[in-house]
Amino acid sequence: MTANSTSGQPHVIVIGGGFGGIAAALRCRAMGAKVTLVERLERLGGRAQVFEVDGFKHDAGPTVITAPFLFNELFQLFNEDIKDHLQFVPLTPWYRFYFHDGRTFDYGQDMSSMRREIASFNPDDVDGYLELVSASKGIFDVGFSKLAHKPFTKFSTMIEQIPSLLALRADRTVSQLVAKHIKDPMLRRAFSIQPLLVGGNPFNTTAIYSLIHYLERKWGVFFCMGGTGALVDALEGLLRRQGVEIATGKDIRRIEVSSNKVTGVILDDGQRIQGEYVVCNADPPTVYKEMLDRGTAFERRLRRPLPEKLTKYSMGLYVLYFGTTREYPDVAHHTIWLGQRFKGLLKDIFDRGKLAEDFSLYVHRPTATDKSFAPSGCDSFYVLCPVPNLKSNLDWEIEGKNLRDGIVSALSRTILPDLEATITSDFWMDPTDFRDDYRSRHGAGFSIAPIFRQSAWFRYRNQDPRIRNLFFTGAGTHPGAGLPGVVSSAKVVETLLKESSEHHFS
Ligand SMILES: Cc1cc2nc3c(=O)[nH]c(=O)nc-3n(C[C@H](O)[C@H](O)[C@H](O)COP(=O)(O)OP(=O)(O)OC[C@H]3O[C@@H](n4cnc5c(N)ncnc54)[C@H](O)[C@@H]3O)c2cc1C
Repeated sequence: MTANSTSGQPHVIVIGGGFGGIAAALRCRAMGAKVTLVERLERLGGRAQVFEVDGFKHDAGPTVITAPFLFNELFQLFNEDIKDHLQFVPLTPWYRFYFHDGRTFDYGQDMSSMRREIASFNPDDVDGYLELVSASKGIFDVGFSKLAHKPFTKFSTMIEQIPSLLALRADRTVSQLVAKHIKDPMLRRAFSIQPLLVGGNPFNTTAIYSLIHYLERKWGVFFCMGGTGALVDALEGLLRRQGVEIATGKDIRRIEVSSNKVTGVILDDGQRIQGEYVVCNADPPTVYKEMLDRGTAFERRLRRPLPEKLTKYSMGLYVLYFGTTREYPDVAHHTIWLGQRFKGLLKDIFDRGKLAEDFSLYVHRPTATDKSFAPSGCDSFYVLCPVPNLKSNLDWEIEGKNLRDGIVSALSRTILPDLEATITSDFWMDPTDFRDDYRSRHGAGFSIAPIFRQSAWFRYRNQDPRIRNLFFTGAGTHPGAGLPGVVSSAKVVETLLKESSEHHFS
């Protein structure tokens, strides 16, 4: 690999090719840096890997595209238009909720059908929903528009934002906010699930994350034709066209630091790459534990005020991928399949570390929109089940198969009749795979949890407070997990690089 700085351009090494890493690499390149992106897996995309088995295709991770303009911004950096490469199609409904009593609730863009759907559960909640959207807009106007792209590296920034955060009632949880406006217990569940999309329990995730309601309403919910993998491929094409050097299948073992400055990185094969800046898209708790010296207690406190033993990680994820030998045309593109318990189940997952007999699921059927995911006459599915992360010491060699059978049986009895007979080519990922494949600490699905004491200045900083040429982008840093969050974190890195750099970035 020829990766040292040449012709006066600063050399930026990006560790990890998830969406945060890809976005940061593009932004650094647009600022005139020489950029090398190193990814340990064979393919870019991070959690957005693609699996192809027996003619069935599966996006491994993200499937719901919100705020698509954030991706177009990356193309626009180089005067290109995303429309020349990809097609985002709006979904109707956005999600179908399936409740344990067999009722369904279609949630989507069209407000007249939303009113009808809500009224069928509780007519009073129609107005309540409008109030919830309006409260969510207030939070969005500050939480997303003003804070998501703002560096929170200084405590003074946090202090400045305290009046806004108090005005937003950031101390309140998502479920408290929803309960204030919605009466029906099933609708309360439906409108509270957003934190689960970024790794949080709605019962203790700060209400700031309610901004996702308005984010969806403002820009819609889309599917990228060809899948999220096609989005990764298009971004990889852009990286290559712009001359970013990409090295896949290379694990970075150490980040070299001398006198509080990163000097380069050491790969697993012993190779050294020298650079003036390192942007980590790898999980920050893993980076600080395994790739850098531990530092003094003071330095550790500077990095993040919360000690490790008080750190709350997001839940683990169990994802079952399968095909079916028939089609299920009545199943929506996205189904949230909710079991009988909600609060108790979440407590089991997040607090008790217990894998309960029951579960709630997210069912993805991309073939509802894009037939290329399965052979003709068949469907492709993935089912995501939130589970405890690896802090709970579950034996996934045993639990993986049990959970697979429980899920297949529950879906056979409900939305996928005869699944036990029609399922084919199935396999799964459990939290051990998240630990081993993505180097995610405790196999967490979304890095550290999005609770108030782990948000903004309290989250891993986008710039190390001592090692000033070390930056972070991705789910574990500000603003947090989810594609809009991690792509926004790269914007924060861009701002910090421009502010702090010894080199001239354009
Ligand atoms: C199953 C699932 C479904 C999801 N669904 C959605 C959704 O529908 N919509 C949405 O917006 N979000 C969704 N999310 C969340 C979203 O996918 C993630 O928050 C986001 O993709 C994380 O991106 P990231 O930039 O943090 O990097 P990651 O995707 O975590 O990638 C980091 C990369 O760094 C690499 N790496 C780590 N250590 C090293 C090293 N030492 N050397 C080299 N490389 C290294 C890893 O291999 C990995 O590829 C989902 C997540 C999962 C897991």
